[in-house]
Amino acid sequence: MSDCHRICVLPGDGIGPEVVAAALDVLRAVQAKSDVRFEFCEAPIGGVAIDEYGVALPENTLRIARGCDAVILGAVGGPKWDTVQPGCPRPEDGLLGIRKELGLFANLRPVRVYAPIASHSPLKASIIQNADILIVRELTGGLYFGEHATHAEVEGAGIGGGRGARAHDVMLYSEFEIERIGRQAFEAARMRKGKLTSVDKANVLDTGQLWRKVIHELAREYPDVELVDMLVDNCAMQIIRDPSQFDVIVTENTFGDILSDEASVLAGSLGLLASASLGQDNALFEPCHGSAPDIAGKNIANPIGQIQSAAMMLEYSFGMADAARSIGDAVDGALAEGWRTFDIASEETPASLILGTREMGERIAERI
Ligand code: NAD
Repeated sequence: MSDCHRICVLPGDGIGPEVVAAALDVLRAVQAKSDVRFEFCEAPIGGVAIDEYGVALPENTLRIARGCDAVILGAVGGPKWDTVQPGCPRPEDGLLGIRKELGLFANLRPVRVYAPIASHSPLKASIIQNADILIVRELTGGLYFGEHATHAEVEGAGIGGGRGARAHDVMLYSEFEIERIGRQAFEAARMRKGKLTSVDKANVLDTGQLWRKVIHELAREYPDVELVDMLVDNCAMQIIRDPSQFDVIVTENTFGDILSDEASVLAGSLGLLASASLGQDNALFEPCHGSAPDIAGKNIANPIGQIQSAAMMLEYSFGMADAARSIGDAVDGALAEGWRTFDIASEETPASLILGTREMGERIAERI
C-alpha cells in the first residue's frame, strides 16, 4: 500500500489561492511520479474566514490542521480588513493563532540566488553569485513574547531619567528554548554544507551570553559542524558584504525577523522565497510574501515561493528529500529555459516568455 500524507491547505486571501493552486499542481505531479498519495483538506483562514465565520482562525480550521500531517498556507490580509475597529478580528490573528496553537518554534527561511535572474538583485552579481543561506529563527521566545508595559510619566524616576512616559519589553530566553532551536539548526547544517553561524549580542545582553553558552555546549554533539559566533550588528553587515560565507544562520526571534528580511533582498523578488515553521508535532509551510492585494486576481503572482514551500514540506515533514530536490531542479530548469513571471522579468524579456501564475506552475509541474 502506498504512503498517504494528509495536507491541510489554507489558501487565505489575495494571491494566496492563486499561488497555492500552482503549488498543488506541482505536488500532484510529484504524486504521479511516485507511490505516495497526498490528500488535500482545504479550510478557510484570515479575511475569508472572518467574512464567513466572524473569526480569522475558525475552530474547524484548527481541528483540520491538527489532524493533518502538515499545513500549506498561502497568505492572509488585505485592504478590506485593514480598517477594522480595535478589538475586531483581523486576518493576522489567524496567522499568529495557528503558529501558536500548533507550537511552531522554528522558522526556516532559505535564501538563494537563482543564477538566471541574478540581475534582479539590488546587489552586484559578483557579491551574490554563490549566496545560499538558510536562516533558522527562534519563533516563540524573546522580546515579542516577553512582558510589555508602558509606564505613565513619573517625575525624575527610572533609568535614563528625563521626562515623559517609559516603556519596556522583556527579552527572556530559557536554556530549553535555545537548545531546541540550536538543535534544529545544527541538524540543518549537517544536511547542508556543515557550517553554522550563531548570531547573538553576547557582548551586551545576558540572553546573548546564555545563547552562546548553550549553543557551544550543543556543538560538542555536532563535531562535524563548523560553528562560528557572530554579533548581530556584524552579521547585518556581512549578509550584504559577503553573503557566500554563510551556510546556516541561527538566531533569536527579533534578530531573526530583521536579518531574514534583510537577506531576502538578495534573491531579487519576494515572490521567490519559501519558509517552513516547525514544531514538535506540527509543521506549516508558507511563502514569505503577503497577500499582495495590488496584483490579486490577475493570475500574475509568482508562485515559486509557494512551490518551494511545498518542496520544504516534502523534505521536512515527509522525508521526501529526492522529491523536494526534483521540485528545486524543475524551478531551476524553468528559469534556465527563460520562463518568467512579471516580477522577475526584465526589459529584455520577450513577452512570449512571461507567464501567468497558473502557467508558471504548469511549466514547473511538467518538469517533475
Ligand atoms: P506583500 O508581500 O503582500 O506585497 C509586497 C509587494 O510584493 C507588492 O508589490 C506585491 O505585489 C509584491 N509581491 C508579493 N508577493 C508576490 C508574488 N508572489 N509575486 C509577485 N509579486 C509579489 O506585502 P504588503 O503589501 O506589505 O502586504 C499586503 C497584505 O498582506 C497586508 O494585508 C499584510 O498584512 C499581509 N501580509 C500577510 C503576510 C502573510 O500572510 N504571511 C505577510 C506579510 C503581509
